[in-house]
Amino acid sequence: MIITQQKPFEEIIGFLERSNAVFICGCSECATLCKTGGEEEVKQMKKRLEETGKKGSGWVVLDPACNILENKKHFRENKAQLSKADSILVLACGNGVQAVSESIDKIVYPGVNTLFLGDIIRFGQFEERCQLCGECLLDKTGGICPISRCSKSLLNGPCGGSENGKCEIDPDIDCAWQLIIDRLSKQEQIDRLKEIIPAKDWSTSRDGGPRKLNIREPHHKKAATSKEKKTEEAKTPVSSVKANSNLRRILDGGEFAVTGELGPPKGADAEVIKKKALYFKDSVDAVNITDNQTAIVRMSSIAAGVILSQMDIEPVVQMVCRDRNRLAIQSDILGAAALGIRNVLCLSGDHQKFGNHPQAKNVYDLDAIGLIQVLKSMRDEKKFLSGDSLTVSPQLYIGAVENPYADPYEFRAIRLAKKIEAGCDFIQTQGVFNVKKFRDWMKIVRDSGLDGKVHILAGVIPIKSAGMARYMRDYVSGVSLPDEIVSRMEDAKDPKEEGTRICVEIIEQLKEIEGIHGIHIMAVAWENIIPVMVKQVKLWPRPKIENIRAS
Ligand code: SF4
Ligand code: SF4
Repeated sequence: MIITQQKPFEEIIGFLERSNAVFICGCSECATLCKTGGEEEVKQMKKRLEETGKKGSGWVVLDPACNILENKKHFRENKAQLSKADSILVLACGNGVQAVSESIDKIVYPGVNTLFLGDIIRFGQFEERCQLCGECLLDKTGGICPISRCSKSLLNGPCGGSENGKCEIDPDIDCAWQLIIDRLSKQEQIDRLKEIIPAKDWSTSRDGGPRKLNIREPHHKKAATSKEKKTEEAKTPVSSVKANSNLRRILDGGEFAVTGELGPPKGADAEVIKKKALYFKDSVDAVNITDNQTAIVRMSSIAAGVILSQMDIEPVVQMVCRDRNRLAIQSDILGAAALGIRNVLCLSGDHQKFGNHPQAKNVYDLDAIGLIQVLKSMRDEKKFLSGDSLTVSPQLYIGAVENPYADPYEFRAIRLAKKIEAGCDFIQTQGVFNVKKFRDWMKIVRDSGLDGKVHILAGVIPIKSAGMARYMRDYVSGVSLPDEIVSRMEDAKDPKEEGTRICVEIIEQLKEIEGIHGIHIMAVAWENIIPVMVKQVKLWPRPKIENIRAS
């Protein structure tokens, strides 16, 4: 049913300013169940309007408000009262308001806000269930809709922020993917999730323009969907043109890689990048440039990556699915490759709720796995997602992220396998603090034979203070930071020194784990510690690329 909520009375009074006599319409169905537009609410509204000096010129509960034919009948029956009305206030969903507007030539105002299509959980409690995408995929997800119930509409499993069954954006919201996994596990159908759900064809949704249906007309044959086109693409022989980036040569050459992370500035100042970059030069093999990290607007990762390239520092340009649709992504990838960017890291991206534009509309046209598939197709098949050919393929080394600590733990290796199948060449993990849990995850990865299919770089985060340790332990979803580390930071005379020591100890342990081919250092606002740490863990000097065989 369509869930509605009554507008604030002051707002209603505001738009009724020019109306003395108001006719009120309710709706016998959804708005009655929502207690926003049934007979009781219509009468209450009439009374309140009269208390403000308006003349109630009549009312009717339409049956239902979205039926234009029925509305016309009701309006004929109430013709006398309607003729005296200056306007009509409709206590029904947006559909109903428009149906009333199409049924009579009067000024029509909405008295409720239309929220979503949802279920009644219990009396007065509703939850969103469907976004009317036009091509239902509930057969693949145990009858639980990831489009409407996952905050990022992810199609191929949970993001790295799922924790204790709850969504990273709000502990009161269930993680849709935890629900899906639980349901399919119970039904012994979990293997269904191993299959990659390809980029969705949104042309069947509102994105394809306003929709119509006439049940008397035969179904029109749809244009070839992206899925059909992908099947055709699969027949095209693969001729991989993986970029011969430094990072690839280090990893394929069997060297232990070191990457770092640089957050671009919140301004158009290239000098900030250049200054920070000096801490990375000669200390790491490549530098990740974050893409509006934590949903805060910053200089573009591609632009910052080009600045690094000009300094002979190899960038790993991060690209999130939150901010771009498939047109923008493919266009940006072509541009980035033309500017010499070789390494691209695919992520879903933090929800905009965490950032400085929480009012923004997110995109999530693709999820991270869909993004990997698109880049691989552009690189190896010279095809856009639409199936159209492109002229010069972008040479890319494709990366993705994985969080061994996010819930549901048992699904993390399956998600990694899907990323590998989609075409990623290397993985960078969430920051490791809990080495034991990470080791356990790596065992699952090795037992699944995944370590031989992708290069895995373990993420590390040096912590500067006890406050930062507590914050990460308590508030950052998807992070597992043991109490012991917090205690060490709290007891330390020099917290920065202790934070460095802890990180160095973790790196030393990670180096010994079979299947780990490098580390990724995320020194948030502490870039100058990177050369210090790389030396302490004896990963300096970095191998000379010219001494490594080309792949
Ligand atoms: S997959 Fe589409 S049609 Fe099915 S429930 Fe979700 S949004 Fe609705
Ligand atoms: S935690 Fe992630 S996967 Fe789960 S519902 Fe929220 S956004 Fe979706």
